[in-house]
Amino acid sequence: MAVQTVIRMGHPTLRLIAKPYPVDDIGSSAFLRLIQNMRETLHAQGGIGLAAPQIDVSTQVAVIEIENTSTRYGELDQIPFSVFVNPVISVADGKIAGYWEGCLSIPGLMGYVERYQHVQIDYLDEAGTAQSVEYQGFIATVIQHELDHLQGKLYVDRMKDPTQFAFDEEYQAYHVDESKEIS
Ligand code: ZN
Repeated sequence: MAVQTVIRMGHPTLRLIAKPYPVDDIGSSAFLRLIQNMRETLHAQGGIGLAAPQIDVSTQVAVIEIENTSTRYGELDQIPFSVFVNPVISVADGKIAGYWEGCLSIPGLMGYVERYQHVQIDYLDEAGTAQSVEYQGFIATVIQHELDHLQGKLYVDRMKDPTQFAFDEEYQAYHVDESKEIS
C-alpha cells in the first residue's frame, strides 16, 4: 500500500462517470488496499477529501477526513475518516452558499462555487453497511465536491464567474474572506 499519484485536470479518467463499486467486493483485500491507498494519499497531500477517480480508479468510492481543524478553508469541525461507497445525494433544502474550493487534481488554484448547504447522502460504509447522513454548511460543499468527482465533474464546471478563480497565494492575499451565504 502506498501513496498514489493524484491525476490532474486534463486526464480523461477525471471526466468519466465512475462505475458503481461491486458490493460483494466490499471488505476484500482489493477494497481494503484501495481505501488504504486513498487514505495515505489524502494524508500525503494534506487534503480533506479524495475520490477514487483522482487516483485513476474509476469507481464510486470517496473519502473525507478533517483531522486538523485549521485548514486553508478556515476553522472546520473535525470529521473522522469516512468512506462513501456508491453514494447517492439528495438535497434536503434549497439554501445555497458560496465557498472558495480547491482540488488536489487542480493544484495551486482556488475557485468560488455556490452549492446546496443541506444535503443527505445515502451510501455504504467501509463495512458494507447502509448509512444515511445529513451535512450542513461547508461540509455539505465538501461532500458535493467529492461526489462530483464520481460523476466526471470538477468544481470549475460549476463556477459562474471566471474572475473568481485565483492561484493559492492570490486567494490568500485578496479573497480569503469572501466565502458567504447566498440565500
Ligand atoms: Zn477535487
